[in-house]
Amino acid sequence: MTQEKKLMQNLRQYEVPLHRYIAMMDLQERNEGLFYKLLIDNVEELLPVVYTPTVGEACQKYGSIFRHPQGLYISLKEKGKILEVLKNWPQRGIQVIVVTDGERILGLGDLGCQGMGIPVGKLSLYTALGGVPPSACLPITIDVGTNNEKLLNDEFYIGLKQRRATGQEYAELLEEFMTAVKQNYGEKVLVQFEDFANHNAFELLSKYSKTHLVFNDDIQGTASVVLAGLIASLKLLGGTLGDHTFLFLGAGEAGTGIAELIALEISKKTGAPLEEARRKIWLVDSKGLIVKSRLGSLQHFKQPWAHDHEPIKQLVDAVKAIKPTVLIGTSGVGKQFTKDVVETMASLNEKPLILALSNPTSQAECTAEEAYTWTKGRAIFGSGSPFDPVEYENKLLVPGQANNAYISPGFGLGLIMAGAIRVHDDMLLAASEALAMQVSEEHYAKGLIYPPFTNIRKISADIAAKVAAKVYELGLASNLPRPKDLVKYAESCMYSPRYRSYR
Ligand code: NAP
Ligand code: MN
Repeated sequence: MTQEKKLMQNLRQYEVPLHRYIAMMDLQERNEGLFYKLLIDNVEELLPVVYTPTVGEACQKYGSIFRHPQGLYISLKEKGKILEVLKNWPQRGIQVIVVTDGERILGLGDLGCQGMGIPVGKLSLYTALGGVPPSACLPITIDVGTNNEKLLNDEFYIGLKQRRATGQEYAELLEEFMTAVKQNYGEKVLVQFEDFANHNAFELLSKYSKTHLVFNDDIQGTASVVLAGLIASLKLLGGTLGDHTFLFLGAGEAGTGIAELIALEISKKTGAPLEEARRKIWLVDSKGLIVKSRLGSLQHFKQPWAHDHEPIKQLVDAVKAIKPTVLIGTSGVGKQFTKDVVETMASLNEKPLILALSNPTSQAECTAEEAYTWTKGRAIFGSGSPFDPVEYENKLLVPGQANNAYISPGFGLGLIMAGAIRVHDDMLLAASEALAMQVSEEHYAKGLIYPPFTNIRKISADIAAKVAAKVYELGLASNLPRPKDLVKYAESCMYSPRYRSYR
């Protein structure tokens, strides 16, 4: 206890967030048990340090803060030998792999090998928030080069200094990797794809979801966490999900992933066909509103969202035309929800629901303060990276953090518990409903549509139990017989750090 207190005091003395990050990484290396104890007991305070926003800065400055290697790198040079490389990892019983190729790190773009901070950070959340033992977690960065000129010209860049491999060369490396993973760890290892660019992400997910236990956090985890917030917000807004109109800024992994899960939920709840449910959802990309006349030039993941409408270039005009009740930012570009946009939302809705999901904080579409001030305190607001509560006319408004960190650790634990061999969308819906149910009257009173992170281990156990129940129900479980009380079972599976104190 004293040791923990002392460490927290030390950490707080660093004024620069990046220094806190470095101190935490050093602690993880030196005393893993204590690192997790600290993270679990101070989750609200330390999440922004080991995860968004600070992890973003750490990835950008990786070269200059590099201390000791973390995770496993697999590069083009290892082609033909990936299985051997995997066998070099000291731990045997791997249950979760988080893998990136570094091409779209948060909203910061191509950071090549420096993206390793993301799989490392995500897996520390698997352990701290979801109770997956650290020895069962493997962070991997696949190095196929980088198109980031700055890194290519940086003498301290740790990765391959060549432009990114694409096409067949890329596909073959990933195929070898996925095959080696299954060969080495079996059918039940979870592979989480993280921060791949969308021109690879959708294809990898659809290809490997048929043969492996795979999950894309940017597409599916984000979708599940946002759907949870929307389900919860119905308590404040009234009506059903199908009564709402949704407008997205950003039609990539996060945007179309969320859109698809909302449509699925509406269609399941109302019995309406998926195509009909999709018509309540509109997306804007860098070229404007996605409409039918653009169909010929749209990437395939945008095509289901090309509805009948005349083209619109500007977001604010799209808001005026579509009259959304919910506005969601998934563009990766900061400051796009301007005063004009937010005021228009406020003029259309008594309680506009505004989610600025892009990470890190610098890329958020607007700040909590802006959302509250420009709507005169009426907005329900959530963001991907955390914002402090805002006092507006003597009322304390608390923004929720709509971040997939709520979902993936519990979701992964649920899959592992049941020995799942495939991921199914119904498992994502189960996770959303489990999370939404954790929002209490007391949270709603502050305008929150997510529970605070303080209780996250309990929340994760609950998500895990509901996900596992769905895995069993769908006949995709291999750990038989099914435990009777899945919440208790989840809790009993969860790793708790044990460390020797100096006394
Ligand atoms: P992505 O696949 O690259 O998609 C980005 C989308 O935004 C694309 O459709 C792009 O348009 C559009 N866009 C870019 N600039 C724009 C602009 N100025 N105006 C309108 N649209 C614009 O990226 P992603 O994976 O969806 O991630 C996007 C952001 O969401 C990132 O910042 C990421 O950190 C964040 N995110 C947050 C969470 C969370 O839990 N809160 C989870 C995942 C991702 P084009 O298609 O025309 O290029
Ligand atoms: Mn991500």
